[in-house]
Amino acid sequence: MDDFVSESDSDYASYWRDWFISSRGNEYFCEIDEDYLTDRFNLTGLNTEVQYYQYALDLVTDVFDLDCDDDMRESIEKSARHLYGLVHARYIVTTRGLAKMLDKYKKADFGKCPRVHCNSHPLLPMGLADMPGSRPVKLYCGRCEDIYNPKSSRHAAIDGAYFGASFHNIIFQVYPALIPTKSAERYVPRVYGFKMHAAAALVRWQNGHFDEMRRRLRKMDVDHGFKKDEPLFIDDRGDDLDLDDEEDDDIAAEMERFEAGRGIVIGGSGEAVDARE
Ligand SMILES: [Zn+2]
Repeated sequence: MDDFVSESDSDYASYWRDWFISSRGNEYFCEIDEDYLTDRFNLTGLNTEVQYYQYALDLVTDVFDLDCDDDMRESIEKSARHLYGLVHARYIVTTRGLAKMLDKYKKADFGKCPRVHCNSHPLLPMGLADMPGSRPVKLYCGRCEDIYNPKSSRHAAIDGAYFGASFHNIIFQVYPALIPTKSAERYVPRVYGFKMHAAAALVRWQNGHFDEMRRRLRKMDVDHGFKKDEPLFIDDRGDDLDLDDEEDDDIAAEMERFEAGRGIVIGGSGEAVDARE
């Protein structure tokens, strides 16, 4: 901002958008085409949303030519950033805009999913609302279909309306090949290697329903988004197919021997029970 103000008019007038895109904290934004910005149709309704609308637009389109004091310039600058964000939300759902955001997505410019089972799947920026000033930007993972807060405080302060509540879904509609395979892997809580009884029972129940859903979808020939060869959690005999059941038994026997000397006995269900209680 400082070096921007100190530039002469003719200098800064040629690259406001370049400056904005390359500023720290603005990595989520793509560059809006000049053609798009200068077509009044694309800006319909924004004149009531943005203070000093015309000056702000002049600044964004590099034709700003007003002699004003620093306070006024700062206000116009702020309006210009807001205007850019609002136009950005409209631009990124156009063919050109989607392609630009796709490039950024492929480079993981928006970060990677923090969930372990998502294996660093790239994220997409999104708003929870289209109304400006309601909620800051969030990040969407197409693999786990969940949303996350941005890591950096600079990103966390960006208005979610600058990306909108639809963009991250539209991009997968327009580029269906991009839809990631879902991950059926999930974390099962354990204490010292043993599945916790209540949690394990719940997981088994959920997995049963999940398998049932996949079976039904397969029967109806509906693409459920999971890998074709992904095994069912529970097979038809009702056995839990969790891979390390045998391993569990080994650990159970070992734990039983090990804990015997410490006043802890292993319950029949494989749960650790404190004998002192
Ligand atoms: Zn994820």
